[in-house]
Parts: sequence; C-alpha cells; structure tokens
Amino acid sequence: MMTTVTMNPTTTEAQTLVSRNPATGEMVGEVPITPVEAIPTIVRRARDATKAWRGMTIEQRIALIEPAGKKLVDRAEELGRLLTLEMGKPLAEAMGEVKGCGSTMSASLKSIAEALEPEPLEDDSTASKMYFDPLGVAAVITPWNFPLAMPHWMVLPALAAGNTVVMKPSEETPLIAQAYAEILNESLPPDVLQIIHGADGQGKALVEAEVDLIAFTGSRETGSKIMQAAGGGLKRLVLELGGKDPLIVMEGADIEKAAEFAARNSFRNAGQVCVSTERIYVDGRIADQFQEAFIRHTQGMKVGSGLEEDTKIGPMISARQRDHVLSQVKDAVNRGAKVVYGGEGHRDQFVMPTILTEVNHTMPIMRDETFGPVACVARYTNADEAVELANDTPFGLGAVVFGPDDQAEQVARQLDAGMVGINKSCGGAAGSPWVGAKQSGFGYHSGKAGHRQFTQTRIVSRPRG
Ligand code: NAD
Repeated sequence: MMTTVTMNPTTTEAQTLVSRNPATGEMVGEVPITPVEAIPTIVRRARDATKAWRGMTIEQRIALIEPAGKKLVDRAEELGRLLTLEMGKPLAEAMGEVKGCGSTMSASLKSIAEALEPEPLEDDSTASKMYFDPLGVAAVITPWNFPLAMPHWMVLPALAAGNTVVMKPSEETPLIAQAYAEILNESLPPDVLQIIHGADGQGKALVEAEVDLIAFTGSRETGSKIMQAAGGGLKRLVLELGGKDPLIVMEGADIEKAAEFAARNSFRNAGQVCVSTERIYVDGRIADQFQEAFIRHTQGMKVGSGLEEDTKIGPMISARQRDHVLSQVKDAVNRGAKVVYGGEGHRDQFVMPTILTEVNHTMPIMRDETFGPVACVARYTNADEAVELANDTPFGLGAVVFGPDDQAEQVARQLDAGMVGINKSCGGAAGSPWVGAKQSGFGYHSGKAGHRQFTQTRIVSRPRG
C-alpha cells in the first residue's frame, strides 16, 4: 500500500513533510513542517505588512503581482512535471494548469481591478461612494486536486484587493504550492504572501489565528469545521466545497456528444474534480444507446502514470482516497448495483474507470461525494423525476443537461446547483463566478461579485449640494 505523504510527529522526520509520487510511492521532495506554535507569529508578520500593502494603489499592487504570470508560462514544462510527479495527473493537464494560471494572470488582475473600482451612488439628497477596501489578513487553505490553480484563484483576488495572505496548501502537494509562492515572492514585498506547511493541525491553527478572512477550497466536512471555528470571531468566509454533480441526458439529446462528455467529465483527473460527473440520469427510452456509447468512449481511456504520453487517468492521490472510492463501490454492489464497466484490475493507487447501473438513492454512492473514477447511471421516466433525483443530495456545485435546447433549459432552471451547463460543461463565460449552491459552498470567488468577497464594502456619503 502506498501513501503520498509521511508526517510522523514523533521522530526527527517530524520536522519535514515528505511528498511522494502517487504513481510509484517514491519520494519527490520534502518541505519543513510549520510548527503550530509559530503560526500566530506568522500571522502577526502578515498583519504588520498590511499597512504598506493596502497603502498602495491597486495598480501598484498589480504591478508587483503580474510578473509571476509570465514566469509561470515560461516554466510551465518544469512545473507541470513537478505537479504530475507530486499529484499524478497526466503531464499535458498539469502543464495546462500551470500555463492556464500564468497566461490569464493579466486578464484576471484587470477584471479584479475593474470589480473593485469605487462605485458612485446618488439619490435626491445624498451622494455616496461605495468602496471595496482590504479586509486585512487572509488565510487561504486549499486542496490537492488542482494544487496550483486552487491556491491561485484565491490568492490572486486576496492580494490584489490589498490583503496580505498566509496560504496553507494541502499536505499532499506542498512542493508545487511552494514553487508557486516563491515565484510570486520574487516580486512581492516581504511578508505580503507567506506559506505554511502541514495538515489539519496547521489549518486549524491558521483559522484560529488573528486572520480577517478565511478563503477555503476543500471538502464539505472541513468547510463545516472551519465555519464553526470561525464563528466565535465572526471571521469572513469564502468556502468552495465538494460536489456530487448530476448529468441529465434527455430524449432528443446528441447521444454521442453526451456520452463523450460523460466519459471525459466522470474520469478526468481520475474523477478527482469537484465538478466531476458522479451521477447520470438518462431517459429510459435512450438509456441502452447512451450506455453503449458511454462504455465505448470510456474504453479508450488509458490508466497509468501521468508521465506516460497517452495516459488519460492517473493514480488516486492517496491510499486513503482509493480506499474510500472502492469501499463506496463495494457498498453499492452489495446493495444491488451492477458493474457494467471496470470494477476490477485496480492496482496500487490506480483505480480503473468504473460504471455502475441499477443504482438508487438508498445507496450512499448516490448522495455522498465519491471523488474518484466512478459514474453511476440511473434511468428516469419523466423530466420531473430526473430533477427530483438530481436534487436529492446535500451538494449543489455543478450540473449538466444534454437535450434539445428549450427542454434542457427548463430542466436546467430547476436544478439546485450554482453552475449549470446545457450541452456543455458547467463552467460559465469569462467573468462568471465559480459558485456552489446548498452545501457546496458559502461565498464564492471569481466574477465581479466573487472578487468583491475578498474586500470590505464601505459606503462614504455626503449631502448633495
Ligand atoms: P480537505 O477538506 O480534506 O482539505 C483541504 C485543506 O484543508 C487541506 O489543506 C487540509 O490540510 C486543510 N484542513 C483539513 N482540516 C482542516 C481544519 N479542521 N481546519 C483548517 N484546515 C483544514 O479536502 P481535500 O481532500 O484536500 O480536497 C478534496 C475536496 O475539495 C473535495 O471535497 C472537492 O470536491 C473539494 N474541492 C472543491 C472545489 C470547489 O471549487 N468547490 C475545488 C477543488 C476541490
């Protein structure tokens, strides 16, 4: 059995966090663990740095953040390789993640600056200006599945808005996060961005320290703990949490396109994506045809090391994650689910893409997040039933409907999700927020409204002359 991270607080090794390649178990590198007792001091340094940082104009701050964009693009190959070694995803996707963050840096910063521009408001008696001011110190706590993009999408708006940041990346992927912070720090003033390493103990200590905002991406369970811990100090929160995304395939849909999407979106990143398709509801009249096409598209997906050129599905991040996925499948099968593809041939931390049918909502696999390469296909008889089933989970991150435009739109509008795609993935056009409904999130990032959540809104008013 392989594990990716060794944290043994009782030995000398206790001082280091060892990162292992999930494809081989080999050590990739290590970083020093931040002692929990040091975290209040680190946060105090971040607070001391806020004065000068918030005193700059947003243009001055952007000028110090922006150079990191080109550096990420220039180093995409090297950093993509590190990302694959540490996290397991196929190299092309890892390089795409690095390049994507770097190449959109300038546009992202521009859109943040536009969103935070002071806004005049007037009525007959009063002239006001609405400002979007820094909050102070932001804690950014992130997961491992997009180990560069997840910190990036929260660090960027926090810094540009004039907050200083203490980031705590996942204990599974410290090296790529460290590289990201170092690149930004080549042009940032001292203590504006600090990074700490460790697991939940360090996360808890950061949440409990004197921070003003906690921007978190991760699981629903941890989000709930953070919300409780933040409650005493009424700290501001942006929580981007887990998902259990449904795909509804209606009669009249382009079945080939729906099946191709289902295979890609269920199994990409070994299903370790918050908006992975985990449940598929298909109109009974086209279900056989869809299932055949879905299996056909899945058959072409090679499982292996992310460094091998034609790999489409890499390893699971950890033995723990693999065990969670396989036990959910086993439980579903014990309750009557049928494996129509995969379900065997798993080795080490590689889980074969698996398709289950004859599933129902008494099975935990239909309501709890899987976060692995498993898709469950159920049949429905009418659109109301499909909507009811799709909404029968505490999550509400993304959802997708394939079908004739008008009918698909009617269904889409009834889904309890923050982002709904019609005949495409759930992500919106440039400028859209990344937003979850129900227990998939509390607050959100990106888009005008998302950028403003990293700020304190402040109204300054005077009488109208
Ligand atoms: P996780 O919740 O286990 O950990 C996330 C981070 O929180 C890690 O850095 C971890 O060390 C830290 N942490 C753990 N306990 C903590 C505590 N009590 N207080 C403070 N910090 C704590 O999640 P994970 O396994 O790293 O990531 C997978 C999860 O992230 C999935 O649920 C996935 O859906 C979700 N996710 C959501 C989005 C989104 O945009 N909504 C994006 C990516 C991943």
